[in-house]
Amino acid sequence: MIYLKTDDEIELLRKANLLVSATLAEIAKVVKPGVTTKQLDTLAEQFIRDNGAIPTFKGFPNPYGPEFPASICASVNEVVVHGIPNDIPLKDGDIVSIDCGTILDGFCGDSCYTFCVGEVSAEVKQLLKTTKESLYKAILTAIPGKRLGDIGYAVQQHCESQGYGIVREFVGHGIGRTMHEDPQIPNYGKQGTGKQLKNGMCLAIEPMVTMKSPELYMLPDKWGVITRDKLPAAHFEHTIAIHHGKADILSTFEEIEKIEGHLY
Ligand code: MG
Ligand code: MG
Repeated sequence: MIYLKTDDEIELLRKANLLVSATLAEIAKVVKPGVTTKQLDTLAEQFIRDNGAIPTFKGFPNPYGPEFPASICASVNEVVVHGIPNDIPLKDGDIVSIDCGTILDGFCGDSCYTFCVGEVSAEVKQLLKTTKESLYKAILTAIPGKRLGDIGYAVQQHCESQGYGIVREFVGHGIGRTMHEDPQIPNYGKQGTGKQLKNGMCLAIEPMVTMKSPELYMLPDKWGVITRDKLPAAHFEHTIAIHHGKADILSTFEEIEKIEGHLY
C-alpha cells in the first residue's frame, strides 16, 4: 500500500529531513582522522534530541539479533551499510557512510552521506563521485508517469557502466510516518517497468555501490554488512517528494558540501 502525501504532510517530512541534513552537517564539521564513530553517534543523538526529535535508528528491531544500539549507522570502508558505531579511530584515507534518521512531529527523515577522512585516494573518490551522481540521475527520473524501474535503471546504468557493483540485497523505500513504507526501490531495474510514479509519493532513494563485486556478507554483530572482497563501498541517500510534477528533494547536502568541499 503506497500512501500518497498531502502538501502539509510533505512540509512535515521536509522538516524531519532537514534535521537529518543538519545532523550530517554537524558530523561533517568533525569527521577527521582520530575521531571514533561512537563520538559521531553521541554528537548526532544529542543534536537530534536538542532539536526536539527522536533518532529513528536507536532501538530499531532486527529479525536476526539485537536491536540497533545507536542513532547513526557508521559504515567504514568495506562496510556497506548498517555499521554499528565503535571505538576504533578513523584513519587518514578512510571513507565513512553516515546514515541517519529522525522522527519529528510524527514524520520521518532519512538521508546518508559518505564522507572522506583526511586524504582519500583518487580511485575511491571516483567511486563516491559516481555513486552521488547516480543518486541525482535517479532523482531526475522520479516524476509522475515514470516507473520505479526507471529509478533503478538510472542508478544501475550509471554505476555498472563504470565497472562498479550494485548492491541488490538492500533497497530504497517509501517514507512517511514510518521510515520504511511501500514501495521498495531497488537500485537496478528495467526502464518502463514497475509501479507508476505519482504526485504525493515520498521516497528515500539510496544507491549502495561497491568498488567491484557487489557480493556481501553479514558481520557477526548481525547488523554490519561488508563486501566479500573487502573493497570499499559508497552510500548516498536523499528523501524526495514527487510533488507538482517534479522531484522535490526534501533532504539537502548543501551544508555538508560547504564543509567537505565538493571533493570531486
Ligand atoms: Mg538511510
Ligand atoms: Mg533509507
